[in-house]
Order: sequence, then structure tokens, then C-alpha cells
Amino acid sequence: MSNFVLLAKQITDEVIAPLAAEIDSARRFPEEGIRALGKAGLLGLLVPEQHGGLGGNLADLAAVTETIGAACGSTAMCFLMHSCATAVIASKATPEQQETYLRPIAQGEKLGTLAFSETGTGAHFYIPEIRAKREDDFFVLSGKKGFVTNGKRADFLIVLTNAAAAEQGLDMLIVDTDMPGVRFEGEWQGIGLSGNNSISLQLDNVKIPASGLVGAEGDGMGLIFQVVAPTFILGVAGVNAGIARGAYEAALRHAKTRTYADGRALADIQAIQFYLSDMFGAVEAASVYVQNAAKAALSGQADAIMHVMQSKIIASEHAIKVTNLAMQVCGGQGYTKALPVERYLRDARAGAVMAPTTEVLKEWVGKSVAGIPLF
Ligand SMILES: Cc1cc2nc3c(=O)[nH]c(=O)nc-3n(C[C@H](O)[C@H](O)[C@H](O)COP(=O)(O)OP(=O)(O)OC[C@H]3O[C@@H](n4cnc5c(N)ncnc54)[C@H](O)[C@@H]3O)c2cc1C
Repeated sequence: MSNFVLLAKQITDEVIAPLAAEIDSARRFPEEGIRALGKAGLLGLLVPEQHGGLGGNLADLAAVTETIGAACGSTAMCFLMHSCATAVIASKATPEQQETYLRPIAQGEKLGTLAFSETGTGAHFYIPEIRAKREDDFFVLSGKKGFVTNGKRADFLIVLTNAAAAEQGLDMLIVDTDMPGVRFEGEWQGIGLSGNNSISLQLDNVKIPASGLVGAEGDGMGLIFQVVAPTFILGVAGVNAGIARGAYEAALRHAKTRTYADGRALADIQAIQFYLSDMFGAVEAASVYVQNAAKAALSGQADAIMHVMQSKIIASEHAIKVTNLAMQVCGGQGYTKALPVERYLRDARAGAVMAPTTEVLKEWVGKSVAGIPLF
């Protein structure tokens, strides 16, 4: 285990795990866990060391999201979306952006997120409808984004938009949530990840200084594929490997401790042993695949992107399978809030429908293995 994972495990055991059930039932933001991660420097996991961060890489991110996800999917998602926003800034940060965002992030003082999704674009988040206008030294944004994890709690957003000049493609702009014209709406109504505060964002003539542009005009598409895609996909694959692991461990504990009048435990029953074997294998396969995909990406392996994409397919499918089996192992008790497996099952369902969704990824992986261009 790396030092980052040991640190994440300590915070998870001491702060995040004890609150996971209450955060789920109260449907509240995981304030304490995020604060503890910030205090330990982990909100700066992807901030380079020269800007005060931990200088972690994609394998570290996936391992940390798995560690947190094994206890609380909501906290893991909030941490992941913040880490994606951090990675975007870190990839192209100007000296001003380093001071305004990266240093405070490393000190646990700023929380970020991605505002990409729109109703009109759905799973195809890389084709936004919203377009920036250029007015002197400002970009002006109006429009609506959906599913903004960390919602009201974020200090800044990375907003994906069409560049002001149509031929320039896409831009990513850093928007501070206290800017005039930024408004969050509604409440998270999802069946799981109840604390992730993924809500709608309304932008009304928000004036963003030109210094809020990440990279150059038109860099948006490159940032999506070079930075956001590997960071989000490996991170969310880690979250789902973690959810699977958490459900498996909870079911195993229950199988060993739930006894019948004749003294036999659930774990003594062969049908349950088969389920435990299936779960154990699926958890390990997901975890190892995600780590190998991250290592392939880090070493610049030629087919790394295929493995990165496949890692989200595998981890989210395994999370659904394992959480489902965990409920089967735990029976009627697993269907109630007496055990955490019903929470894991609800949390596990999000991974496959989050963009890039399983269907979109399968199309891309299929094209890649067949040597057909993605677009
Ligand atoms: C818990 C949660 C947190 C989120 N957090 C964020 C966030 O922080 N920031 C953000 O920007 N977004 C976020 N999202 C949004 C998410 O990433 C997706 O963009 C969004 O869920 C798309 O939903 P939709 O219903 O519009 O999908 P739709 O586009 O309506 O898709 C519906 C189904 O059709 C399939 N489908 C669509 N097109 C194709 C195709 N061409 N080929 C094959 N199948 C296809 C999809 O795979 C899916 O199964 C979050 C979503 C969830 C669930």
C-alpha cells in the first residue's frame, strides 16, 4: 500500500466509514470526510509537489478512490469530481491559476468539480450546447448544466463550453461559484450516492475574466481526452471497485456471524460459499484491472486508452454484480438498513450510467480493438 492509500485508509476508518450510513439516510453532503481529506492534504493528491500538493498520479487516484469507495460511495464521488477539476487546472495552470487554485486546493481550502453535463447532450457530454461569448477581457456564459456533483459545496467549477468563435472548438473555463449569475437549483434525487449533491447549475450572464481560461482557446477537446477522460474513468472505476469490495466484506462478515439455532453459520452453506467465491473473484479482478490500466496509462503503453476505458466497464459491471450477490448472501436482512449492502447496491448502480456510459465505452473499446477510428 502506498503512503497515500495508508493515509486515505486511516481517514476512511476514523471519519468516513462511521458516518457513511447517516450521510446516506440524511442525504447530506459528506462534510466531515471531505474536510478530513483536505486537512490531510489529500484534496491536493493531483496537485504537483512544486505547488504544495502531494504529486500523486492516476494509479494513486484509483487506489485512493477505491479505499474511500469501500466505505462511502458518496464521499468517494465528491472526492473524485474534485480531483478531476484539479487535474484540469494542474495540466495547464498559469502562474496566477497556480496561486489562486492549486495552492489553496493543496491546503484543503478549495473544493472543485466538473460542470460538463447538459440535458441536451446527455451521455455525449463532449458535445455541449452552451457557448461562451467574448466581451473585451471576459468570457460571458449563460445556460444550464446538470448533475454537478459537489453542487453548492464547490468553490469553483470547470465548465465545458463551445468556444466563442465556432471554428475554435471547445473551451474549459474556471468559474468561481461566488461569481454573480451562478446559481444552483434543486436537490439530488438519485437512488444512491445520496450525499454527492449532484444538482443543476444555472449560469446567467456570468462574466469570467480571460485569466479563467484553461490553456488556450480551443484546448477543450484535448483536455477532455488527455486529462478528464483518464482521470475520471480510472477514478470512477476505483470508486466502483471500492463499492464492490465494501459490499463483499460486509456480506462476508454477515455470513460468518449469522448463525442458525443448530449453530451453523451462513458461511457453512455451500450455496453461500459459491456466492462468496464469485464475489471475491469479481472484486479482485476489478481492482487489479483498474490498477493495471492506470499503470499502462502512466507508462504510455500504446493501447493504454483501451484498458482505461475497459476498466470502467469492468469495475461498474462487477460492482453491480457483487452488490447484488451481497444482498443475496444476506437475505432479507440485507434488504433492510440493518446491513449496509442495500446502500452499496444503490450506490453501485450509478457507475454504468455515468458518462462515458457502459454502452458508449463498449462502442469505443470495440472500435479500438477492431482498429476503427472512434469518431
Ligand atoms: C451520480 C452522478 C453524478 C454525476 N456527476 C456529474 C458531474 O459532476 N459533472 C457532470 O458534468 N456530469 C455528472 N453526471 C452526469 C453523467 O456523467 C451523465 O452525463 C448523465 O448521467 C447522462 O445522463 P442522461 O440521462 O442524459 O443519459 P442519456 O444520454 O439520455 O443516455 C441514456 C442511455 O442511452 C445510452 N446511449 C445514449 N447514446 C448512446 C449511443 N450513441 N450509443 C449507445 N448508447 C447510447 C446511454 O449509454 C444510457 O444508457 C453525473 C451523473 C450521476 C448519475
